[in-house]
Amino acid sequence: MADSDYIVGIDLGTTNSEIAVYKNGEVRIIKKNDRDILPSFVGITPEGALLVGEEARNQMLLYPERTVRSIKRKMGEDLLVPLGDKQFKPQEISAFILRELAQWAANFMGSPARRAVITVPAYFSDAQRQATREAGALAGLDVLRIINEPTAASLAYGIQEVGQKTVLVYDLGGGTFDVSIIAMESEVTEVLASHGNNHLGGDDFDALIAERLAQHFEQEHDINLRHDYPVAWSRIWRAAEEAKIKLSEAPFVTVREETLVISNGIPRHLELELSRQDYEALILPLVESTLDSVTKALQDAGKTTSDINAVLLVGGATRTPLVARILEERIGMEPRQDIHPDLCVALGAGVLASRLAGHDVDRVLVDVTPYTFGVRCIGEVDGRTCDHRFAKILRRNAPLPITRTELFYTTCPYQKAVDVEIFQGEDEDIYNNIPVGKFIIEDLKPVPEPSEILCRMALDINGILTVTAIEKCTQKSKHITIENAMRPMDEGELVEARKRIAELYASDVVHAGDTESDDTEEEKEITAGEHGDAVALMKHSEALMDTMHDEDKEEAIELLEQIKDALEGDDEEALREALDELKELIFYIEGK
Ligand code: AMP
Repeated sequence: MADSDYIVGIDLGTTNSEIAVYKNGEVRIIKKNDRDILPSFVGITPEGALLVGEEARNQMLLYPERTVRSIKRKMGEDLLVPLGDKQFKPQEISAFILRELAQWAANFMGSPARRAVITVPAYFSDAQRQATREAGALAGLDVLRIINEPTAASLAYGIQEVGQKTVLVYDLGGGTFDVSIIAMESEVTEVLASHGNNHLGGDDFDALIAERLAQHFEQEHDINLRHDYPVAWSRIWRAAEEAKIKLSEAPFVTVREETLVISNGIPRHLELELSRQDYEALILPLVESTLDSVTKALQDAGKTTSDINAVLLVGGATRTPLVARILEERIGMEPRQDIHPDLCVALGAGVLASRLAGHDVDRVLVDVTPYTFGVRCIGEVDGRTCDHRFAKILRRNAPLPITRTELFYTTCPYQKAVDVEIFQGEDEDIYNNIPVGKFIIEDLKPVPEPSEILCRMALDINGILTVTAIEKCTQKSKHITIENAMRPMDEGELVEARKRIAELYASDVVHAGDTESDDTEEEKEITAGEHGDAVALMKHSEALMDTMHDEDKEEAIELLEQIKDALEGDDEEALREALDELKELIFYIEGK
């Protein structure tokens, strides 16, 4: 089939719209100027020019009466929407958006887009579906199919590949939330139940942050921005959305807006650090409210969580880490988000469009990280505190490119350096993972209390991993770049990697997870894991020294000596005894 007979797949969204097409053997999102999302905004300038997308969104601030947003909410209603000095039906406004997307496709494919598959929410009535068809026709598109958004998401993931599947699609966009339970068997899809809230989404998260920023500004400057300062208020909203997006990948964000208002001739700035923890506390009630809909949808579908084969996350706001966490707790299954959640529906529409055009497409191909990457830290492994816990930062199957930042603390007072040891693997114990690099960040500011160290990992589609450690209070940073981080290691390299682990921990003992170790001999030796535990506990008790009474201190010093001797003499029993005593002592001191 010639490229000119192509069919596009379109996600005509409340906040944003996207378009996908089959080209060079795969379904891909069409971009314009590097942007793959078209804001669903339409405007008319005072001079009468039509604006669609980003430009219309920008004009909203200046000319709200000349701009329309969220037209999807009005689809199917018999009304006219004012736009400047004209009036339009909802489907006419939607047609402007579709026409713009069709133009993107024409530019990309080199010939006009004529046929389309368009998605709609599962709960859309016949009238709303009909209005969507009409919008397509007004944009010059022959709408071959209207499909449900959750069905499109399942197509993108290729869920229907084998057997019968029950899928939960959780869709949290900018202004709407839906959860659908769908049954899929080969080509047949049925939406069993759908629930949601037409007025809940990422915009509500922005509202909570904006309110927090406004409160802070009011406390600092005694100025209430909410009513009399429309420009400052809209800047706050934008800053709130940016902060929200940053908090999806970092534990802190600093919001800074210079000269937000000028009062009595003095420029007033806004500056506030917001932690993810505080942000999550703000939005928790909203996220929890979505779980009620999940329960209702399951009930209506006559299913329980154990019937669910996959949970798919759709919609930009599902990038909020709290959403996936809470959902996983509720359903007991890790939700899938390996396809970009804001492109997933358009890609699924693209899969169906490609099939209708005669291409053999099962699912969307996306670049994901094949392994989890993280660093060594102090934490629990098998219920025991140790210094060889694997802290996961970039999780397997996350779409690329990806950046994530996590927060760690120094362990000793006045600590001046931190070893950053990077591993690849899935085990909670670094000894069962593969070391991929390490570096030291030195000359840290020596402070008595634990100091905050941010560790940022970025992995691009070429497999280049950049790891950066940042001392938060000074912003001092150091990084390394690891080429080929996604390439699987061959046998020789694995052996080398294991050797490096052994050297890393100055231990000549094969670690417990290694099947080639000699079980009988190993009973009496100190394993690398125990060695790590001992070091962690010693560090911890050294950190407590200043707070100990003289008697306790003497006992602790004695026990530390015994532990060192046991380590040197490789005496496992003596080590265990001394460690147990030291643990008891610490327990007693900390409980005081
Ligand atoms: P959608 O309607 O699916 O396009 O989703 C739009 C919503 O997703 C908006 O509220 C965005 O601010 C939000 N969003 C986009 N990216 C992120 C992100 N990385 N973290 C949290 N929310 C996001």
